[in-house]
Amino acid sequence: MPVARVALDVPLPKLFDYACEAAPPIGARVLVPFGAKQVVGVVCEIARASEVPAERLRPLGRVLEDTPPLPAEWLELARFASDYYQRPLGEVIAGALPPRLKRAEPLRARAAAATPSAETRFTPGPALTAAQIAAIEALQSALGRYAAHVLYGVTGSGKTEVYLHVVRAALERGTQALVLVPEINLTPQLERELRERFPGVAIALAHSGLADTARARAWLAAQAGGARIVLGTRLAVFTPMHALGVVIVDEEHDASFKQQDGVRYSARDLAVYKAHLARCPVVLGSATPSLETFANALADRYRLLRLPDRARAEAALPTVRLVDTRRDAPADGLAPAVVEAIGARLARGEQSLVFLNRRGYAPVLACSACGWVGDCTRCSAHLVVHLGERRLRCHHCGLEAPVPRACPNCGNVDLTPFGRGTQRLEDSIVARFRDARVLRIDSDSARGKGRWEAMLRAIRAGDVDILVGTQILAKGHDFPRLTLVAVANADAALMAADYRAPERLFAQLQQVAGRAGRAELPGEVLIQTRYPEHPIYQALVAGDYERFARAQLEERAAAGFPPAVAEAVLRAEARELDAALAFLAHAITRAPTAADDAALFDPVAMTMPRLAGWERAHVLVQSRSRRALQNYLSEWIETLYAERAPRGVRWHVDVDPVEF
Ligand code: ADP
Ligand code: ZN
Ligand code: ZN
Repeated sequence: MPVARVALDVPLPKLFDYACEAAPPIGARVLVPFGAKQVVGVVCEIARASEVPAERLRPLGRVLEDTPPLPAEWLELARFASDYYQRPLGEVIAGALPPRLKRAEPLRARAAAATPSAETRFTPGPALTAAQIAAIEALQSALGRYAAHVLYGVTGSGKTEVYLHVVRAALERGTQALVLVPEINLTPQLERELRERFPGVAIALAHSGLADTARARAWLAAQAGGARIVLGTRLAVFTPMHALGVVIVDEEHDASFKQQDGVRYSARDLAVYKAHLARCPVVLGSATPSLETFANALADRYRLLRLPDRARAEAALPTVRLVDTRRDAPADGLAPAVVEAIGARLARGEQSLVFLNRRGYAPVLACSACGWVGDCTRCSAHLVVHLGERRLRCHHCGLEAPVPRACPNCGNVDLTPFGRGTQRLEDSIVARFRDARVLRIDSDSARGKGRWEAMLRAIRAGDVDILVGTQILAKGHDFPRLTLVAVANADAALMAADYRAPERLFAQLQQVAGRAGRAELPGEVLIQTRYPEHPIYQALVAGDYERFARAQLEERAAAGFPPAVAEAVLRAEARELDAALAFLAHAITRAPTAADDAALFDPVAMTMPRLAGWERAHVLVQSRSRRALQNYLSEWIETLYAERAPRGVRWHVDVDPVEF
């Protein structure tokens, strides 16, 4: 009797065996008994016999035939993710499947999608620039085989137009395109563009904002081949494709491509592997490629395609100026030079954006009498004051409390909000520019169905004079009337201990600066800082990403950080920090010993130890060789899985971590 080996959503690194009369197809969804329950799993292997004794081998429930078996290539990607990220295959598969397909109730069939027509209609766009033509030709000639490309194009250089032409070429060959963007917010705009340029072409969306059934249907349409283009966020990388012809990762440097819980995968890196499996090109696009990607380009593993200028002849890159706040002291958050620049825009009927990457009214509420500070009880973080709703909120775990009337410690009624968030900045801008129409855009104000789209429309229609916003505004949007970007406070990021902080800050400021002057009106960027001589700010003024990136790569290599080395952490979480540290100290004694090619560091608490009631600590592992690191980790983890973790301690491995 054949044995089906099934992946289940269970934190154990193994497949589960079930006896069956006839072997189900590999990749089939099946309903199987597990303990007292019936659960949905995926058949990964068929074996002739099982190591489970015959009397304990349970029979397979039934094959779920409402969906076709998952393709071999899809299982291959899941296996790769399981090996690379050191997570059980069952967990990877469960994390990848749309929630609706983890339920057994059959998905009702829908009328078959129209068969794809051979002639792709393509609405022509603007006449291409020479740089766009060169990039498109390079990418078109790469179709049909695996090759990784970095499309390094300054903001406004017309990367989207390059993507569209490459998608068109892939569709004309009868293949499909997968397009990934870092945030849900960026999907509507690109979806609209794709629908306009490819009329009649079936496009499937894949992101967490879709209803369960819609997401499952889109998944099936991609697998059957009816959907020609799949557009989505990081989870879209797991969409099964009938005939994948090109993969595009827009804003590839964005940290949102890294999943931060469960299977901690990088969708950008999996996208590269997916292209490899499908033997098709992958395009990683960015104005500030990640240092990992840039290093791959410098090493000729990825091919570098440059778009050095803005696409529109009339749109020059904005000029960047530093406002030294030691001399030009801000009042209510804005230096006189910035106030003046905003005033000039108002007089000319142009738009300004004041960027502050901190939402809420103030980041801290404190008592000046006794020193009490409003802290989250569940995280090592201050509660943020949201004055409008009179709430204190933790931006890490979501905990909420009313703003206290008096100090809970000493009764003083004079509690002071310290620091400045977007709400407070908005208030002071409204007070200063009485006739201006001010709009605050952050994830608080943009929450709610249709709000974000409505705000974008208002900006485009010219119904807004001054925008106050966080990084939510920084990415991918085109605001033709916006000519001034003022960065209110970026210095805090210079002090961060994280070695990735300079890279992130540079990318973020370059992105937000890129919103200025995208049409015929020239753009200006003013950065308020106490450290105008800092190399990051100097690089921004020079507009020289490449020099900045090379310098960072040298620093990282000298200090022994990625991408010069590969790294992973073993992270432990417990109610008490000591328990997490003790587990890690024990885990180290179980680590492979004969390993000169991997270095193990001491257990330490994370930079923000407490999150949502869990104390977190980790052990860092580094190696010059990615392969050596993989081998080391899998050997180590095997022993850890074999032992039972102490009660109340949970652990996981994070490969290529971005949080320390
Ligand atoms: P990026 O993604 O590189 O920042 P976009 O793709 O958003 O840039 O393009 C910036 C603007 O330039 C868009 O309004 C786009 O329509 C326009 N554009 C792109 N290519 C051309 C071109 N060849 N000629 C004129 N305008 C172009
Ligand atoms: Zn007090
Ligand atoms: Zn919290």
